[in-house]
Amino acid sequence: MISSEDTVLILGAGQAGGQCAASLRRFGFEGRIILAGSEPHPPYQRPPLSKAYLSGEIEADRLWLQPPETWEEQKVDLRTGLEAISIDRAQKTVRFADGSSENYSCLIIATGSRVRKLPVEGADLESVRYLRNIADVDALKSDFSPGKRIAVIGGGYIGLEAAAVAKKLGAKPVVIEALDRLLARVAQPELSDYYKHAHQSRGVDIRLSAKVESLLGKEGHVCGVRLASGDVIECDSVLVGIGVIPNQELATEAGLKTGNGIVVNEDCQTSDPAIFAIGDCAEGINPVYHRRIRLESVPNALEQAKTAAATICEQPAPEPETPWFWSDQFDLKLQSAGLVTGTEFSVIRGDMDSGNFAIFHFAGDFLLAADAINDPPSFMAAKMMIAKGATPDPREIENTDIPIKDIMKACLAK
Ligand code: FAD
Repeated sequence: MISSEDTVLILGAGQAGGQCAASLRRFGFEGRIILAGSEPHPPYQRPPLSKAYLSGEIEADRLWLQPPETWEEQKVDLRTGLEAISIDRAQKTVRFADGSSENYSCLIIATGSRVRKLPVEGADLESVRYLRNIADVDALKSDFSPGKRIAVIGGGYIGLEAAAVAKKLGAKPVVIEALDRLLARVAQPELSDYYKHAHQSRGVDIRLSAKVESLLGKEGHVCGVRLASGDVIECDSVLVGIGVIPNQELATEAGLKTGNGIVVNEDCQTSDPAIFAIGDCAEGINPVYHRRIRLESVPNALEQAKTAAATICEQPAPEPETPWFWSDQFDLKLQSAGLVTGTEFSVIRGDMDSGNFAIFHFAGDFLLAADAINDPPSFMAAKMMIAKGATPDPREIENTDIPIKDIMKACLAK
């Protein structure tokens, strides 16, 4: 049982770490909380980095998870610019890069993930950028001005969101994707095709099956992307968005079990019961799909943060949620519920040309996932049905004369 004499040390002051500190207080923990993060900022949200912050619609102070002074009011010892470098499990101590160390009763690893670097010649040229933190976006903003040619390498959500902002600001983005469709890792082909047309019709140049061979430079500055086909795409800057790698080395070196992330149980506890891992760096058992998975999303970071805090405080954990995600590109608000892996067939509800529809993905009778574009009711209904393992009739889903709420109600009552 944790007491007010104990210390909870949180490594990583991001979305998961910040939420965990706040939840520990909410669940009544009265001991010491140290929230140590390597970035120079208080905990902040990353989603706006590729949306409203990149486009200049909001300033950095709108990114903070809560007003900076609230950490002090909650008696959370927030230490920014402090990187943890090793964990001594026998002594229950963490060492930091500045030479200091701290003891813990409970340790939370919330170190997130880092960008995957482009492994080609020329990747170290000037104006080859990535998009993970505030500093990255601040460096990027000058590239997004009218007339500037931006080569976006990677047709995933971050690359596409950035391309949409670039276009909106008058720049000329070209999206370069190695696979034969966009969003291949996370979406079914219908959605990939939809986004391809959505971007093309708004003036974004999309190149599929385009493998980058090298980046070309002039006087140290990137000026082009050479493809394996021999084609060269001329540009003024490059934005690389080819995925992330979990920050799990601290855990591996401390002898904790790791795989694609730090392995945790349903309570977010690692193979050492005094150590928890949450957010992008954790590979947990998804309570809805009953399989091991590492998710990179805000809702997952928040849920795991609350679960770890509840376990530490011996409080009931939050109800498991269907994994979900959102993406904003141009006037298209995508909300995805569930995971598409294992999809056997998909049905469409609504008219895709109207920009207001949802695609429901099934495995046998079971609803696995749904992608809703500008259609929050379908998203909400799908999220709830997936959580309950529901089996809606695909023909009813396609029939927009039947309100989605009624389909959901009937299906949950079965
Ligand atoms: P982070 O928020 O990354 O926090 C981890 C922190 O730990 C970082 O500040 C890092 O510097 C720090 N750290 C790392 N190592 C150490 C160390 N050794 N010592 C101390 N500190 C350390 N998700 C959505 O659901 N919807 C979206 O629309 C969406 N858009 C996104 C757009 C962008 C541009 C990005 C980058 C991400 C987006 N995501 C989105 C994903 C979401 O932001 C992440 O899943 C979420 O931030 C994960 O939270 P986290 O706390 O695990 O990691």
